[in-house]
Amino acid sequence: MAANNQDQQSQAGRHQEVGHKSLLQSDALYQYILETSVYPREPEAMKELRELTAKHPWNLMTTSADEGQFLNMLLKLINAKNTMEIGVYTGYSLLATALALPDNGKILAMDINRENYELGLPVIQKAGVAHKIDFKEGPAMPVLDKLVEDQKNHGSYDFIFVDADKDNYINYHERLIKLVKVGGLIGYDNTLWNGSVVAPPDASLRKYVRYYRDFVLELNKALAVDSRIEICMLPVGDGITLCRRIK
Ligand code: SAM
Ligand code: CA
Repeated sequence: MAANNQDQQSQAGRHQEVGHKSLLQSDALYQYILETSVYPREPEAMKELRELTAKHPWNLMTTSADEGQFLNMLLKLINAKNTMEIGVYTGYSLLATALALPDNGKILAMDINRENYELGLPVIQKAGVAHKIDFKEGPAMPVLDKLVEDQKNHGSYDFIFVDADKDNYINYHERLIKLVKVGGLIGYDNTLWNGSVVAPPDASLRKYVRYYRDFVLELNKALAVDSRIEICMLPVGDGITLCRRIK
């Protein structure tokens, strides 16, 4: 009887498969989303940048078109003006952000690799939004530490998108929580890490997937119990966890 109760309790915690998992049910369904509501509405510049990025050898890193559309709408919904992005690559999420901000909006964008940013930059310039971007080449951590040193930067960001070195997300979080305003959002990308967050211990995973998986798992656990934020983990792209600062 006790075992039965336990079973029932763990069943209650499981997601309802019927009517719930449709988003991730099949590749065809994902393709349907892209073709029905994403590609037909994708701004010309984002399409051009997506196609240019598709030819690059590291194209696996780019933000997907549906996630780009999601970020663009989210930024408009929260009326974001002052934003930050850690991990730019060729700039697809950066462009989605830049297009959503008002003309005097700002994005502090950081990446250790300037070359890839410069691949996408002509498209961003052509779209007329490059003036919103302040690109800093180099690791993000020293830039964040410098920002945190100055009290006037505290609580000054409306939105921060983190899409870089997963082994540092937890360390970024301690800085970003000071820099984002109360009521503002931090989005941590790839928090479902290619589905590997639920892979059994003996699963055969690519080396880098296995390496970063432990950091993603650790981050997910830490965010789930962090009383300074409210969170929402969305199965968009490779998973994005939105954190709304509440204190
Ligand atoms: N958001 C990008 C897009 O929409 O295409 C994708 C970013 S890609 C997944 C990750 C990026 O993080 C790479 O371009 C890499 O150079 C950068 N990166 C890695 N470590 C970093 C660090 N310590 N500081 C800043 N950027 C870093
Ligand atoms: Ca990503």
